[in-house]
Amino acid sequence: MIPASFDYVRAGSLREALNALAAADGTKVLAGGHSLLPMMRFRLAQPPRLLDVSELSELRGIDEHRRGARIGATTPYRELLESVLLKERFPIIAECTEGIGDLQVRNRGTIGGSLAHADPASDMPAVMLALDATFNLRSKRGKRSVAAREFFQGPFATALAEDELLIDILLPPLPKGAGTAYVSQDQAASGYALAGAAAVVARTRRTVSHAVVALTGVGEVSRLIGSTDQLVGTGGEPEVLSRVAAGAVEGLQIDGDIHAPADYRRHLATVVVRRALEKALERAK
Ligand SMILES: Cc1cc2nc3c(=O)[nH]c(=O)nc-3n(C[C@H](O)[C@H](O)[C@H](O)COP(=O)(O)OP(=O)(O)OC[C@H]3O[C@@H](n4cnc5c(N)ncnc54)[C@H](O)[C@@H]3O)c2cc1C
Repeated sequence: MIPASFDYVRAGSLREALNALAAADGTKVLAGGHSLLPMMRFRLAQPPRLLDVSELSELRGIDEHRRGARIGATTPYRELLESVLLKERFPIIAECTEGIGDLQVRNRGTIGGSLAHADPASDMPAVMLALDATFNLRSKRGKRSVAAREFFQGPFATALAEDELLIDILLPPLPKGAGTAYVSQDQAASGYALAGAAAVVARTRRTVSHAVVALTGVGEVSRLIGSTDQLVGTGGEPEVLSRVAAGAVEGLQIDGDIHAPADYRRHLATVVVRRALEKALERAK
């Protein structure tokens, strides 16, 4: 379908972008357009005006930040894959990104667009939760930082206010010697996760000292699972991993859809949690 008519503005500076958003007149931010434009073509979104932020240098790039990393919101997936810094410090980001969409999606789609869109089946929110990322937001009213675990509030709903821009993402360093893994069972046509799990695990000698897993594609929002507490203080034995995987979906409302019935999706969630933990444990030094 053809979208409803709209105005288009390209922001020449961050100040200009924040001024335009301050009007809170339904203007939508446009980054790579890979989620917003399909929504407009289906007329699920009919913004009167698009504000293109793709040329703002303040919003783009990957740098070292306090022994972790800073990723600008409009950094495309391709640059995440090419980053030596991310590969060395956060290999889970490339592991996740290489499975997202196709070449065109990875060339134009941005990390910030994916996070702000908050599709409950998208891959990157789970990785950001597992890495304990912080998102820096800015509006004409000021700046604030929101932890990933407070950012994702529901399907396609985040902590971003209408007049706010996601500026960048801060990743703290991983615990020493931590192993990470992203495992997803994809919907064959789109590549979106039927169930995906991001795991970060560290050991002190042979004992697990840190374990975090976030789930995506299952339920209304990507979330951290509570059952990883059972792993800390153990040696990561197979029976413990089984308990953690089973606990991951306990009490979770999981709905079926045309891609997967609820029971199948529930089962897949336990499988991806277990596999992500096994891989992360193997990789932990
Ligand atoms: C064919 C196809 C396959 C795909 N496969 C996958 C997949 O396998 N896994 C997966 O996770 N995703 C997948 N995607 C989705 C893709 O990851 C997202 O479309 C993309 O990352 C969104 O980024 P964008 O820059 O294109 O955002 P846009 O479409 O430009 O924006 C998306 C939303 O975020 C808002 N926004 C964007 N940037 C900011 C900002 N800096 N501050 C505030 N708000 C902002 C916009 O207003 C809009 O509401 C696929 C998409 C397509 C088209």
